[in-house]
Amino acid sequence: MQQALIEAKKAYLIGEVPIGAVVVKDNQIIGRGHNLREWLEDSTVHAEVVAIQEACRTLNSWRLIDCDLYVTIEPCLMCSGAIVNSRIHKVYFGAEDPKAGAVTSLYQTLSDQRLNHQVEVEHGLLGNEASHLMKSFFKAARKKRKLKK
Ligand SMILES: [Zn+2]
Repeated sequence: MQQALIEAKKAYLIGEVPIGAVVVKDNQIIGRGHNLREWLEDSTVHAEVVAIQEACRTLNSWRLIDCDLYVTIEPCLMCSGAIVNSRIHKVYFGAEDPKAGAVTSLYQTLSDQRLNHQVEVEHGLLGNEASHLMKSFFKAARKKRKLKK
């Protein structure tokens, strides 16, 4: 999760919403990513998706069997879908996202028995650091907007 936080800080430094993720297999990081939505003007490049894409390239497979994903903030609906589709074994996330979270907050996508794959979940790991980073990002963004007016 420390590595996911490092990714989140990279996003922060380039003015992106600071969320970071890594995919781990056998104690090795095989994919990492941070949010790049503004940079690429692409609504789908969330941290989790970037990390999953890299992990798939590393393993040369769309199935991320026995892989775990660490992400600083609770995954959204799109990312939860990507996690289920890539057959990730377990997700660790830092802080909950009451407005868009699709793991515990708004939906429980990863444990939905109607889907053909369920993912184990653990949360709270470095959650304070992750949410602190988000809060200071949005605080700075609000300040910037005020200065523009
Ligand atoms: Zn997402």
